[in-house]
Amino acid sequence: MALIVQKYGGTSVGTTDRIKNVARRVAHFHQQGHQLVIVVSAMSGETNRLLGLAKQISDNPSGRELDVIAATGEQVTIGLLAIALHELGIDARSYTGGQVRVLTDNAYTKARILEIDEKNMRRDLDTGMVVIVAGFQGVDAEGNITTLGRGGSDTSGVALAAALNADECQIYTDVDGVYTTDPRIVPEARRLDKVTFEEMLEMASLGSKVLQIRSVEFAGKYKVKLRVLSSFDDPDSTAPGTLITFEEDEHMEQAIISGIAFNRDEAKISVMGVPDKPGIAYAILGPIAASNIDVDMIVQNIGASSHTDFSFTVNRNEYQKALAVLEQSRGQGLEAREIIGDNRICKVSVVGIGMRSHVGIASKLFKSLADEGINIQMISTSEIKVSVVIDEKYLELAVRVLHKAFELDKEPA
Ligand code: ADP
Ligand code: ASP
Ligand code: MG
Repeated sequence: MALIVQKYGGTSVGTTDRIKNVARRVAHFHQQGHQLVIVVSAMSGETNRLLGLAKQISDNPSGRELDVIAATGEQVTIGLLAIALHELGIDARSYTGGQVRVLTDNAYTKARILEIDEKNMRRDLDTGMVVIVAGFQGVDAEGNITTLGRGGSDTSGVALAAALNADECQIYTDVDGVYTTDPRIVPEARRLDKVTFEEMLEMASLGSKVLQIRSVEFAGKYKVKLRVLSSFDDPDSTAPGTLITFEEDEHMEQAIISGIAFNRDEAKISVMGVPDKPGIAYAILGPIAASNIDVDMIVQNIGASSHTDFSFTVNRNEYQKALAVLEQSRGQGLEAREIIGDNRICKVSVVGIGMRSHVGIASKLFKSLADEGINIQMISTSEIKVSVVIDEKYLELAVRVLHKAFELDKEPA
Protein backbone atom coordinates (compact mmCIF):
# COMPACT_ATOMS: atom_id res chain seq x y z
CA MET A 1 0.00 0.00 0.00
CA ALA A 2 1.31 3.37 -0.98
CA LEU A 3 0.32 6.99 -0.54
CA ILE A 4 -0.04 8.35 -4.05
CA VAL A 5 -0.90 11.85 -5.24
CA GLN A 6 -2.48 11.77 -8.69
CA LYS A 7 -3.07 14.95 -10.67
CA TYR A 8 -5.51 14.99 -13.59
CA GLY A 9 -5.26 17.88 -16.07
CA GLY A 10 -7.94 19.81 -17.92
CA THR A 11 -8.45 17.51 -20.90
CA SER A 12 -8.65 14.50 -18.58
CA VAL A 13 -11.61 16.10 -16.78
CA GLY A 14 -12.93 17.99 -19.83
CA THR A 15 -16.43 16.43 -19.82
CA THR A 16 -18.60 14.68 -17.24
CA ASP A 17 -17.89 11.40 -19.05
CA ARG A 18 -14.18 11.99 -18.63
CA ILE A 19 -14.69 12.83 -14.97
CA LYS A 20 -16.49 9.51 -14.62
CA ASN A 21 -13.52 7.88 -16.33
CA VAL A 22 -11.16 9.49 -13.81
CA ALA A 23 -13.43 8.26 -11.01
CA ARG A 24 -13.18 4.69 -12.35
CA ARG A 25 -9.41 4.97 -12.48
CA VAL A 26 -9.28 6.33 -8.94
CA ALA A 27 -11.59 3.53 -7.78
CA HIS A 28 -9.24 1.01 -9.38
CA PHE A 29 -6.22 2.31 -7.43
CA HIS A 30 -8.30 2.64 -4.27
CA GLN A 31 -9.36 -0.99 -4.53
CA GLN A 32 -5.70 -1.96 -4.71
CA GLY A 33 -5.41 -0.53 -1.22
CA HIS A 34 -3.57 2.71 -1.94
CA GLN A 35 -4.19 5.93 -0.07
CA LEU A 36 -5.05 8.55 -2.66
CA VAL A 37 -5.01 12.30 -2.86
CA ILE A 38 -6.40 13.44 -6.21
CA VAL A 39 -5.65 16.90 -7.54
CA VAL A 40 -7.72 18.14 -10.46
CA SER A 41 -7.59 21.06 -12.89
CA ALA A 42 -10.58 22.92 -14.24
CA MET A 43 -12.37 21.36 -17.23
CA SER A 44 -10.34 22.16 -20.37
CA GLY A 45 -10.97 25.65 -21.70
CA GLU A 46 -12.70 26.72 -18.51
CA THR A 47 -9.89 28.84 -17.04
CA ASN A 48 -9.58 30.69 -20.36
CA ARG A 49 -13.33 31.23 -20.43
CA LEU A 50 -13.39 32.57 -16.88
CA LEU A 51 -10.47 34.95 -17.42
CA GLY A 52 -12.07 36.02 -20.72
CA LEU A 53 -15.21 37.12 -18.85
CA ALA A 54 -13.14 39.48 -16.73
CA LYS A 55 -11.41 40.85 -19.84
CA GLN A 56 -14.83 41.63 -21.33
CA ILE A 57 -15.36 44.05 -18.47
CA SER A 58 -11.89 45.50 -17.98
CA ASP A 59 -8.56 45.74 -19.81
CA ASN A 60 -6.78 45.87 -16.51
CA PRO A 61 -8.69 43.75 -14.00
CA SER A 62 -7.52 43.44 -10.40
CA GLY A 63 -5.34 40.39 -9.75
CA ARG A 64 -7.20 39.61 -6.56
CA GLU A 65 -10.52 39.45 -8.36
CA LEU A 66 -9.07 37.45 -11.27
CA ASP A 67 -8.02 34.82 -8.77
CA VAL A 68 -11.46 34.80 -7.16
CA ILE A 69 -12.89 34.10 -10.60
CA ALA A 70 -10.30 31.65 -11.95
CA ALA A 71 -10.30 29.49 -8.82
CA THR A 72 -13.95 28.56 -9.40
CA GLY A 73 -12.99 26.34 -12.35
CA GLU A 74 -11.24 23.84 -10.11
CA GLN A 75 -13.94 24.11 -7.47
CA VAL A 76 -16.44 22.68 -9.96
CA THR A 77 -14.29 19.70 -10.92
CA ILE A 78 -13.47 18.65 -7.35
CA GLY A 79 -17.18 18.53 -6.52
CA LEU A 80 -18.04 16.63 -9.69
CA LEU A 81 -15.27 14.09 -9.13
CA ALA A 82 -16.36 13.53 -5.53
CA ILE A 83 -19.93 12.86 -6.69
CA ALA A 84 -18.67 10.52 -9.43
CA LEU A 85 -16.74 8.55 -6.79
CA HIS A 86 -19.77 8.43 -4.51
CA GLU A 87 -21.70 6.92 -7.43
CA LEU A 88 -19.11 4.13 -7.46
CA GLY A 89 -19.62 3.58 -3.74
CA ILE A 90 -16.35 5.21 -2.74
CA ASP A 91 -16.06 7.56 0.16
CA ALA A 92 -14.49 10.78 -1.10
CA ARG A 93 -14.38 14.39 0.02
CA SER A 94 -13.38 17.49 -1.89
CA TYR A 95 -11.35 20.44 -0.63
CA THR A 96 -10.61 23.83 -2.15
CA GLY A 97 -7.07 25.12 -1.68
CA GLY A 98 -8.25 27.30 1.18
CA GLN A 99 -10.03 24.42 2.90
CA VAL A 100 -6.89 22.27 2.93
CA ARG A 101 -5.03 25.37 3.69
CA VAL A 102 -2.55 25.62 0.95
CA LEU A 103 -0.93 28.80 2.25
CA THR A 104 0.65 31.02 -0.41
CA ASP A 105 2.14 34.47 -0.63
CA ASN A 106 -0.14 37.21 -1.94
CA ALA A 107 1.28 37.52 -5.46
CA TYR A 108 -2.08 37.22 -7.16
CA THR A 109 -2.18 35.19 -10.41
CA LYS A 110 1.32 33.80 -9.75
CA ALA A 111 1.37 33.02 -6.04
CA ARG A 112 3.95 30.73 -4.48
CA ILE A 113 3.10 28.00 -2.02
CA LEU A 114 4.57 28.63 1.44
CA GLU A 115 3.07 25.86 3.54
CA ILE A 116 0.49 23.10 3.38
CA ASP A 117 -1.56 21.89 6.33
CA GLU A 118 -1.84 18.12 5.94
CA LYS A 119 -4.06 17.56 8.99
CA ASN A 120 -7.46 17.29 7.26
CA MET A 121 -6.08 15.18 4.46
CA ARG A 122 -4.37 12.75 6.86
CA ARG A 123 -7.51 12.38 8.93
CA ASP A 124 -9.59 11.51 5.88
CA LEU A 125 -6.96 9.20 4.40
CA ASP A 126 -6.77 7.32 7.69
CA THR A 127 -10.47 6.54 7.44
CA GLY A 128 -9.98 5.14 3.95
CA MET A 129 -11.43 8.15 2.17
CA VAL A 130 -10.21 9.47 -1.16
CA VAL A 131 -9.17 13.11 -0.74
CA ILE A 132 -9.80 15.42 -3.70
CA VAL A 133 -8.05 18.78 -3.82
CA ALA A 134 -8.55 21.70 -6.20
CA GLY A 135 -5.35 22.37 -8.12
CA PHE A 136 -3.97 25.80 -9.04
CA GLN A 137 -5.17 27.58 -5.90
CA GLY A 138 -4.43 28.50 -2.33
CA VAL A 139 -5.04 31.28 0.16
CA ASP A 140 -2.75 33.95 1.51
CA ALA A 141 -2.28 34.68 5.21
CA GLU A 142 -5.31 37.00 5.14
CA GLY A 143 -7.51 34.35 3.59
CA ASN A 144 -7.58 35.89 0.11
CA ILE A 145 -7.94 33.34 -2.69
CA THR A 146 -4.78 33.07 -4.81
CA THR A 147 -3.82 31.12 -7.92
CA LEU A 148 -0.44 29.68 -8.85
CA GLY A 149 0.00 30.72 -12.48
CA ARG A 150 -1.20 28.94 -15.61
CA GLY A 151 -0.60 25.22 -15.47
CA GLY A 152 -0.34 25.53 -11.69
CA SER A 153 -2.23 22.34 -10.83
CA ASP A 154 0.97 20.42 -11.53
CA THR A 155 2.60 22.41 -8.76
CA SER A 156 -0.33 21.77 -6.43
CA GLY A 157 0.07 18.05 -7.03
CA VAL A 158 3.79 18.00 -6.37
CA ALA A 159 3.53 20.31 -3.35
CA LEU A 160 0.86 18.10 -1.78
CA ALA A 161 3.01 15.05 -2.46
CA ALA A 162 5.94 16.76 -0.76
CA ALA A 163 3.84 17.84 2.24
CA LEU A 164 2.39 14.34 2.68
CA ASN A 165 5.71 12.68 1.99
CA ALA A 166 3.87 10.62 -0.63
CA ASP A 167 5.48 7.62 -2.27
CA GLU A 168 4.87 9.04 -5.73
CA CYS A 169 3.29 11.97 -7.54
CA GLN A 170 1.66 10.92 -10.80
CA ILE A 171 0.78 13.64 -13.31
CA TYR A 172 -1.94 12.24 -15.58
CA THR A 173 -2.39 14.15 -18.79
CA ASP A 174 -3.43 13.71 -22.42
CA VAL A 175 -0.06 12.33 -23.58
CA ASP A 176 1.62 9.25 -22.13
CA GLY A 177 4.79 10.93 -20.92
CA VAL A 178 7.38 13.55 -21.69
CA TYR A 179 8.41 13.41 -25.34
CA THR A 180 11.51 14.54 -27.20
CA THR A 181 9.33 17.45 -28.31
CA ASP A 182 5.63 18.26 -28.39
CA PRO A 183 4.14 15.23 -30.19
CA ARG A 184 1.44 17.49 -31.62
CA ILE A 185 4.08 19.27 -33.69
CA VAL A 186 6.35 16.34 -34.51
CA PRO A 187 4.51 13.01 -34.84
CA GLU A 188 7.86 11.18 -34.77
CA ALA A 189 8.61 12.52 -31.29
CA ARG A 190 9.60 9.74 -28.93
CA ARG A 191 8.47 9.22 -25.35
CA LEU A 192 11.36 9.39 -22.90
CA ASP A 193 11.44 6.70 -20.20
CA LYS A 194 13.44 9.05 -18.03
CA VAL A 195 14.47 12.66 -18.09
CA THR A 196 16.63 14.39 -15.49
CA PHE A 197 15.32 17.19 -13.31
CA GLU A 198 17.79 19.60 -14.83
CA GLU A 199 16.65 18.84 -18.36
CA MET A 200 12.99 18.94 -17.37
CA LEU A 201 13.52 22.29 -15.68
CA GLU A 202 15.06 23.70 -18.84
CA MET A 203 12.36 22.20 -21.06
CA ALA A 204 9.59 23.56 -18.84
CA SER A 205 11.16 27.00 -18.62
CA LEU A 206 11.69 27.06 -22.39
CA GLY A 207 8.06 26.35 -23.16
CA SER A 208 7.24 22.62 -22.84
CA LYS A 209 3.99 22.98 -20.98
CA VAL A 210 3.65 19.31 -20.10
CA LEU A 211 4.84 20.25 -16.58
CA GLN A 212 4.70 23.69 -15.00
CA ILE A 213 8.25 24.74 -14.14
CA ARG A 214 7.49 25.31 -10.48
CA SER A 215 6.27 21.73 -10.11
CA VAL A 216 9.65 20.51 -11.34
CA GLU A 217 11.49 22.88 -8.99
CA PHE A 218 9.39 21.61 -6.09
CA ALA A 219 9.91 17.97 -6.93
CA GLY A 220 13.67 18.49 -7.24
CA LYS A 221 13.89 20.35 -3.96
CA TYR A 222 11.79 17.93 -1.91
CA LYS A 223 12.88 14.78 -3.76
CA VAL A 224 9.36 13.89 -4.84
CA LYS A 225 9.19 10.87 -7.12
CA LEU A 226 7.52 12.46 -10.14
CA ARG A 227 6.05 10.63 -13.13
CA VAL A 228 4.06 11.82 -16.15
CA LEU A 229 1.46 9.37 -17.52
CA SER A 230 -1.65 9.24 -19.69
CA SER A 231 -5.08 9.40 -18.10
CA PHE A 232 -6.50 7.68 -21.18
CA ASP A 233 -4.50 4.47 -20.77
CA ASP A 234 -6.25 1.59 -19.07
CA PRO A 235 -5.57 1.81 -15.31
CA ASP A 236 -4.29 -1.78 -15.49
CA SER A 237 -1.81 -0.80 -18.16
CA THR A 238 1.81 -1.11 -17.22
CA ALA A 239 2.77 1.88 -19.38
CA PRO A 240 5.61 3.45 -17.43
CA GLY A 241 5.16 7.06 -18.59
CA THR A 242 8.20 9.23 -17.93
CA LEU A 243 10.06 9.31 -14.65
CA ILE A 244 11.87 12.52 -13.72
CA THR A 245 15.21 11.45 -12.27
CA PHE A 246 18.27 12.85 -10.58
CA GLU A 247 21.38 12.96 -12.70
CA GLU A 248 23.48 11.26 -10.05
CA ASP A 249 21.08 8.29 -10.19
CA GLU A 250 21.76 7.83 -13.88
CA HIS A 251 24.35 5.27 -14.71
CA MET A 252 23.39 4.80 -18.30
CA GLU A 253 24.96 6.57 -21.23
CA GLN A 254 22.88 9.70 -21.77
CA ALA A 255 21.69 10.97 -25.11
CA ILE A 256 23.49 14.22 -25.89
CA ILE A 257 20.24 16.03 -26.64
CA SER A 258 17.09 14.99 -24.80
CA GLY A 259 14.54 17.31 -26.27
CA ILE A 260 13.46 20.38 -28.17
CA ALA A 261 11.32 23.02 -26.52
CA PHE A 262 9.67 26.02 -28.07
CA ASN A 263 7.76 29.06 -26.99
CA ARG A 264 5.44 31.14 -29.10
CA ASP A 265 4.71 33.70 -26.40
CA GLU A 266 7.73 35.84 -27.18
CA ALA A 267 8.27 39.37 -28.42
CA LYS A 268 11.43 41.26 -29.29
CA ILE A 269 12.18 44.92 -28.76
CA SER A 270 15.17 46.77 -30.22
CA VAL A 271 16.32 50.14 -29.05
CA MET A 272 18.37 51.50 -31.93
CA GLY A 273 21.09 54.12 -31.86
CA VAL A 274 21.64 54.50 -28.14
CA PRO A 275 24.88 56.05 -26.81
CA ASP A 276 27.56 53.39 -26.31
CA LYS A 277 28.50 54.35 -22.76
CA PRO A 278 28.39 52.92 -19.23
CA GLY A 279 24.90 52.78 -17.73
CA ILE A 280 22.98 52.38 -20.97
CA ALA A 281 21.74 48.83 -20.24
CA TYR A 282 20.51 50.02 -16.89
CA ALA A 283 18.84 53.08 -18.41
CA ILE A 284 16.91 50.80 -20.77
CA LEU A 285 16.18 47.80 -18.56
CA GLY A 286 15.94 49.45 -15.13
CA PRO A 287 12.48 50.93 -15.79
CA ILE A 288 11.41 47.65 -17.47
CA ALA A 289 12.32 45.71 -14.32
CA ALA A 290 10.69 48.35 -12.12
CA SER A 291 7.48 47.72 -14.07
CA ASN A 292 7.68 44.02 -13.18
CA ILE A 293 8.30 42.92 -16.77
CA ASP A 294 10.47 39.83 -17.08
CA VAL A 295 13.24 40.10 -19.65
CA ASP A 296 14.59 36.95 -21.23
CA MET A 297 17.32 37.27 -23.88
CA ILE A 298 19.44 40.40 -24.13
CA VAL A 299 21.78 41.36 -26.97
CA GLN A 300 23.90 44.47 -27.25
CA ASN A 301 25.64 45.03 -30.55
CA ILE A 302 29.19 46.23 -30.94
CA GLY A 303 29.08 49.99 -31.02
CA ALA A 304 30.00 52.01 -34.11
CA SER A 305 30.62 55.75 -34.02
CA SER A 306 29.86 55.79 -30.29
CA HIS A 307 26.32 54.44 -30.74
CA THR A 308 24.95 50.93 -30.45
CA ASP A 309 21.74 48.90 -30.76
CA PHE A 310 20.23 47.03 -27.85
CA SER A 311 17.66 44.22 -28.17
CA PHE A 312 15.80 42.08 -25.67
CA THR A 313 12.84 39.73 -25.50
CA VAL A 314 9.81 39.76 -23.21
CA ASN A 315 6.70 37.67 -22.85
CA ARG A 316 4.29 38.56 -25.64
CA ASN A 317 1.56 39.64 -23.27
CA GLU A 318 3.91 42.23 -21.78
CA TYR A 319 5.06 43.55 -25.16
CA GLN A 320 2.81 46.62 -25.32
CA LYS A 321 3.55 47.47 -21.73
CA ALA A 322 7.32 47.22 -22.36
CA LEU A 323 7.06 49.48 -25.43
CA ALA A 324 5.09 52.02 -23.39
CA VAL A 325 7.72 51.96 -20.62
CA LEU A 326 10.48 52.60 -23.18
CA GLU A 327 8.62 55.47 -24.78
CA GLN A 328 8.21 56.95 -21.36
CA SER A 329 11.95 56.56 -20.67
CA ARG A 330 12.62 58.29 -23.97
CA GLY A 331 10.38 61.15 -22.92
CA GLN A 332 12.45 61.38 -19.76
CA GLY A 333 15.79 61.63 -21.54
CA LEU A 334 16.76 58.15 -22.79
CA GLU A 335 18.56 58.91 -26.02
CA ALA A 336 17.58 56.52 -28.84
CA ARG A 337 17.23 56.90 -32.59
CA GLU A 338 14.36 54.47 -32.86
CA ILE A 339 12.48 51.82 -30.89
CA ILE A 340 11.25 48.88 -32.94
CA GLY A 341 9.39 45.81 -31.88
CA ASP A 342 8.35 42.46 -33.29
CA ASN A 343 5.79 40.30 -31.56
CA ARG A 344 5.78 37.59 -34.23
CA ILE A 345 8.88 35.80 -33.10
CA CYS A 346 9.33 32.55 -31.23
CA LYS A 347 12.09 30.77 -29.38
CA VAL A 348 13.29 27.26 -30.18
CA SER A 349 15.71 25.47 -27.84
CA VAL A 350 17.61 22.21 -27.80
CA VAL A 351 18.20 20.77 -24.33
CA GLY A 352 20.46 18.03 -23.06
CA ILE A 353 22.91 17.42 -20.24
CA GLY A 354 25.17 15.68 -22.73
CA MET A 355 26.05 19.13 -24.08
CA ARG A 356 28.42 19.56 -21.17
CA SER A 357 30.74 16.97 -22.61
CA HIS A 358 30.11 17.36 -26.34
CA VAL A 359 31.00 20.19 -28.66
CA GLY A 360 29.39 21.15 -31.95
CA ILE A 361 25.75 21.20 -30.83
CA ALA A 362 25.26 24.89 -31.51
CA SER A 363 26.94 24.75 -34.92
CA LYS A 364 24.81 21.77 -35.94
CA LEU A 365 21.72 23.73 -34.92
CA PHE A 366 22.84 26.79 -36.88
CA LYS A 367 23.61 24.76 -39.98
CA SER A 368 20.30 22.88 -39.87
CA LEU A 369 18.36 26.14 -39.73
CA ALA A 370 20.54 27.79 -42.38
CA ASP A 371 19.93 24.88 -44.76
CA GLU A 372 16.21 25.66 -44.53
CA GLY A 373 16.78 29.39 -45.03
CA ILE A 374 15.63 30.19 -41.49
CA ASN A 375 17.25 33.36 -40.18
CA ILE A 376 18.41 33.41 -36.55
CA GLN A 377 17.67 36.72 -34.85
CA MET A 378 19.10 36.08 -31.41
CA ILE A 379 21.02 33.29 -29.67
CA SER A 380 21.51 32.36 -26.07
CA THR A 381 23.21 29.40 -24.46
CA SER A 382 23.64 27.79 -21.09
CA GLU A 383 25.53 24.69 -20.03
CA ILE A 384 22.74 22.39 -21.20
CA LYS A 385 20.76 24.34 -23.79
CA VAL A 386 21.02 26.45 -26.93
CA SER A 387 18.11 28.75 -27.76
CA VAL A 388 17.46 30.78 -30.87
CA VAL A 389 14.87 33.40 -31.67
CA ILE A 390 13.37 33.08 -35.15
CA ASP A 391 10.36 34.32 -37.10
CA GLU A 392 7.25 32.68 -35.70
CA LYS A 393 6.20 31.44 -39.14
CA TYR A 394 9.15 29.02 -39.18
CA LEU A 395 8.49 27.52 -35.76
CA GLU A 396 7.08 24.16 -36.80
CA LEU A 397 9.57 23.72 -39.62
CA ALA A 398 12.48 24.53 -37.30
CA VAL A 399 11.32 22.10 -34.62
CA ARG A 400 10.87 19.31 -37.16
CA VAL A 401 14.20 19.95 -38.84
CA LEU A 402 16.09 20.01 -35.56
CA HIS A 403 14.31 16.92 -34.27
CA LYS A 404 15.57 15.06 -37.32
CA ALA A 405 19.04 16.62 -37.34
CA PHE A 406 19.65 15.55 -33.75
CA GLU A 407 18.17 12.11 -34.51
CA LEU A 408 15.65 12.39 -31.72
CA ASP A 409 13.29 10.13 -33.64
CA LYS A 410 15.74 7.26 -33.14
CA GLU A 411 16.37 5.36 -29.91
CA PRO A 412 19.78 6.35 -28.56
CA ALA A 413 22.40 3.67 -29.21
P1 ADP B 1 -2.93 19.15 -18.70
O1 ADP B 1 -4.21 19.85 -19.03
O2 ADP B 1 -3.10 17.69 -18.46
O3 ADP B 1 -2.15 19.84 -17.62
P2 ADP B 1 -1.23 20.39 -20.70
O4 ADP B 1 -1.95 20.77 -21.95
O5 ADP B 1 -0.92 21.43 -19.71
O6 ADP B 1 -2.06 19.20 -20.04
O7 ADP B 1 0.13 19.62 -21.06
C1 ADP B 1 0.11 18.51 -21.92
C2 ADP B 1 0.47 18.95 -23.33
O8 ADP B 1 1.83 19.39 -23.33
C3 ADP B 1 0.46 17.86 -24.36
O9 ADP B 1 -0.84 17.67 -24.88
C4 ADP B 1 1.46 18.33 -25.40
O10 ADP B 1 0.82 18.93 -26.51
C5 ADP B 1 2.24 19.42 -24.67
N1 ADP B 1 3.70 19.21 -24.74
C6 ADP B 1 4.61 20.18 -25.04
N2 ADP B 1 5.83 19.68 -25.03
C7 ADP B 1 5.74 18.38 -24.69
C8 ADP B 1 6.70 17.33 -24.51
N3 ADP B 1 8.01 17.54 -24.65
N4 ADP B 1 6.24 16.10 -24.16
C9 ADP B 1 4.93 15.88 -24.01
N5 ADP B 1 3.97 16.83 -24.17
C10 ADP B 1 4.37 18.07 -24.51
N1 ASP C 1 -6.76 25.43 -14.78
C1 ASP C 1 -5.48 26.10 -14.68
C2 ASP C 1 -5.00 26.54 -16.05
O1 ASP C 1 -5.68 26.34 -17.04
C3 ASP C 1 -4.45 25.28 -13.97
C4 ASP C 1 -4.05 24.01 -14.66
O2 ASP C 1 -4.73 23.53 -15.57
O3 ASP C 1 -3.01 23.44 -14.26
O4 ASP C 1 -3.95 27.13 -16.16
MG1 MG D 1 -0.95 21.57 -17.64
